[in-house]
Amino acid sequence: MTTVLGRFVLWLLFVALGFYNPTTGALSADHFRVVGLFEPEEKAQKLSFTNAIEKLNLNVVGSSHMVVYYVEEVLPNDSFEANKGDEEETRKTLDYKVCRQMKEGIAAVFGPISKIPRAHVQSICQAFDIPHLSAQWDPRETRDYYSINVYPDNDVLGRASAELVRYWNWKHFTVIYEDDDSLLRLQEVLKATKGSDHRISIRKLDPFQGSYISMFKDLKEKGEYHIVVDCSAAKVQPLLHEALKVNMLSEYYHFHFTTLDLGGVDLEDYKYSGANVTAMRLIDPTRTQVVDVMTEWRFNDDNALTSPLLGGNYLQTEVALMYDAVHLFFKSLSELTVAVKDIKTQSLSCNKRDAWDIGNSLLNYMKSMDFEGLSGRVRFSPDGRRTDIKLDIVQLSQSGLKAVGDWHPTTGVNISTSYQEKSKEDINKLKNMTLRVVTVYEEPYLMMKQNPDGTVTHEGFMIDLLNLIKGRLPFNYTVYQVADKNYGRDQGNGEWDGMVGDLMKRDSKERADLAAAGMTITYEREKVLDFTKPFLNLGITIVYKKPTKAPPELFSFLSPLSIDVWIYMLAAYLCVSFMLFVIARFSPYEWTNPHPCNEDSDYVENQFTILNSLWFTIGSLMQQGSDIAPRSASGRILASSWYLFTLIMVSTYTANLAAFLTIEEFVSPFNNVEELAEQNKVTYGIVPSGSTRGFFQNSDVPTYKRMWAFMETNPDVGLVSNSKEGINRVKTSDYAFITESSTIDYQVQRNCELTQVGGLLDSKGYGLAFPKDSPWTDLISREIIYFQETQQIQKLYDKWWKEKSGGKCDVDEGKKDASSLGVKHVGGVFVVLVGGLVAGLLLACLEFMWKAKKNAKVDKQSFCSEMSEELRFAVRCCGKPEKTTRRVGSKDIVDNGIQFAPLTGMTHRNNSKELYA
Ligand code: GLU
Repeated sequence: MTTVLGRFVLWLLFVALGFYNPTTGALSADHFRVVGLFEPEEKAQKLSFTNAIEKLNLNVVGSSHMVVYYVEEVLPNDSFEANKGDEEETRKTLDYKVCRQMKEGIAAVFGPISKIPRAHVQSICQAFDIPHLSAQWDPRETRDYYSINVYPDNDVLGRASAELVRYWNWKHFTVIYEDDDSLLRLQEVLKATKGSDHRISIRKLDPFQGSYISMFKDLKEKGEYHIVVDCSAAKVQPLLHEALKVNMLSEYYHFHFTTLDLGGVDLEDYKYSGANVTAMRLIDPTRTQVVDVMTEWRFNDDNALTSPLLGGNYLQTEVALMYDAVHLFFKSLSELTVAVKDIKTQSLSCNKRDAWDIGNSLLNYMKSMDFEGLSGRVRFSPDGRRTDIKLDIVQLSQSGLKAVGDWHPTTGVNISTSYQEKSKEDINKLKNMTLRVVTVYEEPYLMMKQNPDGTVTHEGFMIDLLNLIKGRLPFNYTVYQVADKNYGRDQGNGEWDGMVGDLMKRDSKERADLAAAGMTITYEREKVLDFTKPFLNLGITIVYKKPTKAPPELFSFLSPLSIDVWIYMLAAYLCVSFMLFVIARFSPYEWTNPHPCNEDSDYVENQFTILNSLWFTIGSLMQQGSDIAPRSASGRILASSWYLFTLIMVSTYTANLAAFLTIEEFVSPFNNVEELAEQNKVTYGIVPSGSTRGFFQNSDVPTYKRMWAFMETNPDVGLVSNSKEGINRVKTSDYAFITESSTIDYQVQRNCELTQVGGLLDSKGYGLAFPKDSPWTDLISREIIYFQETQQIQKLYDKWWKEKSGGKCDVDEGKKDASSLGVKHVGGVFVVLVGGLVAGLLLACLEFMWKAKKNAKVDKQSFCSEMSEELRFAVRCCGKPEKTTRRVGSKDIVDNGIQFAPLTGMTHRNNSKELYA
């Protein structure tokens, strides 16, 4: 009704302004004719075209130029296709219609939409220099010069989708396409992934097949979770409907549609499905221009909601673009009319090679135009393509389609949803969900509990942890044990057993949403699953029986000193004895008169024979003393250092002996993993499908390789079904079980006969595991960090490891250690002894020379001959340590109360008085 009224007003305006002669129907010279070519079914485009012209004409009231439109109906694509029989006729009809309009003089041609007639019209416009405007997707590389398209360039749209795929880091995805045009649109997406681990599978929507269920079933079986779909907006709903039927709209799936009109699809049934449904849009419905136009169009129509323009209250991209195309024409024309006076259209005949003079100028104005349209900033590259566009990235949420970011050719993908918004969205999705939790029953992580009323529930560290998380995130869970009771291992063909396998099945009946157990975060598992941050830290280690007491040894008295020290002591004893002997031979003060009453005796004796020297040193070493003692200063220096040595050694020995006698020695057949690998007495093993197996199997360390070879070749011994069996074997046989420290810690606190042997072989953590790309991983991971920081996980650990009948064996039976003292402990005493030896020796030499000098005077000999004589005697070691003096008038010297005899007398003389004279 309003439209009819509007048209009447426009007619009146034309008449009033003199553009239109109502009797002849002819237009005056100040108007511009444009032609719109539309297929009968493209009602919305046609209305957009006419409404836009009417509106913009009203806006230019007062100016001397008006635009008048003519709409010609054209037949769609298939009428032009070869082998239809009448395609030639159709073409002629189209030519006729365009030529008829050109004869009247036209400033531009809009449409048609279908590819074949459009190309035909474009070539006519090209021939007569008439600008051709379109608002449809056009993949052609080279375009007619006189053609301008407000639809975004195909390459740019392709790039946008490809960059999104890269942004999401999709390595495996499926492309579903509708027709050959789709492949042109998807070119960039197909090039988006490069690399050996990237894989794209391509599926075509079969137009003859009503249902897509078998395709979706197949995709599901193949584990395709990321899907790019290129189809018309009309096909989106049937596709999603079929996907929903095969449960492919769960939170693990991501459907990205390349259509720019996802906003026009009714997605009500899918917004709670959990699947990630995304697309891009050019027309932002919240934009002021769009809101204004939509309000206007609603008023123009009798029934707004069924308006073909709004396609169910949604402004379709091509409809909005047609509006922008008209806007572009108006803007360019009004600028051109300001710049060039008296421009007018020209009657052109299709039969003549004529052209519109102004056409080129008008086209150049269009190409240089830059304005805000319904589709954002409208501007063109020099070849008339629309490459500078901004696309909104939209995502289906529980409140409908929501813009989560945008894409621009220069800035690329920009996701603007804040962290809080994303969390809120994820929490909303999680609400009221019942997660299936897979586990392996193992103490103290997760166990079955028989209630007094006969019901069976679950308990354990993991249940408490899940309940803590549940307290902060609203969800429910059910727990089941994985059928094969395994943790999970790659079977070699990409298939996994155990909990990992169930998590990977994510959509089947046996699917699991998360694994809660003592499940180790490993590199291999991380490739196929998502893990939360670790909640426990641990490492591989060995559990074995506590060591037994060693039987007493016969020669345990030797233990306080190491064998080296005993050898050094023996060497020191021999060395000191010999040095004492030597010093005594050289020192004149060790030669004494054996008959003190016979002072005149020339006969002198030395008490330090070899045997006596040995006796003296052993006597002092044994703290018993002896009946001989050195007289010379040099001998006494040596003796003193020996006394010091024996004092320290004996005290050290005694002290350490006490420790050895009081401490009972415990013996274990091995003290670390290397010793375990070396010996054959104790067998050892691991659980067969856990991360510990992976550790040994993939190790390059020779010890671990050897151990894995043993376990692999003796699976009866080397692989136990679970940790319970492993611990039982340790208790009942000579067996060492290798598993993770957290489990061992739990067991040794309850089984006092068990102990952990050696340190940790590696370091890793337990985490909650989720299927890859699960939306819950980040949410729950954050909660785990929170519980770590608030020490709630530590409290749970204490509860399940220490409090619940743990800590029984906490009394440290004190492995007080007593070890033999080595050379490094007593080395200093040896140094002192050597010092004493050297000092004694030097002093003995001095004494020797001093005496030789004195005797040389008395004997009237040269010092050298006296020295050599004395030396000869001293080194005659086999002889008896006795001698006679030979000098007359020589006299024994009394020094420090010790009587000295002159050295090396050749003759025995009784008159000693003479000697002293
Ligand atoms: N926690 C290990 C896993 O996640 C199982 C125990 C083990 O391998 O020692 O595979």
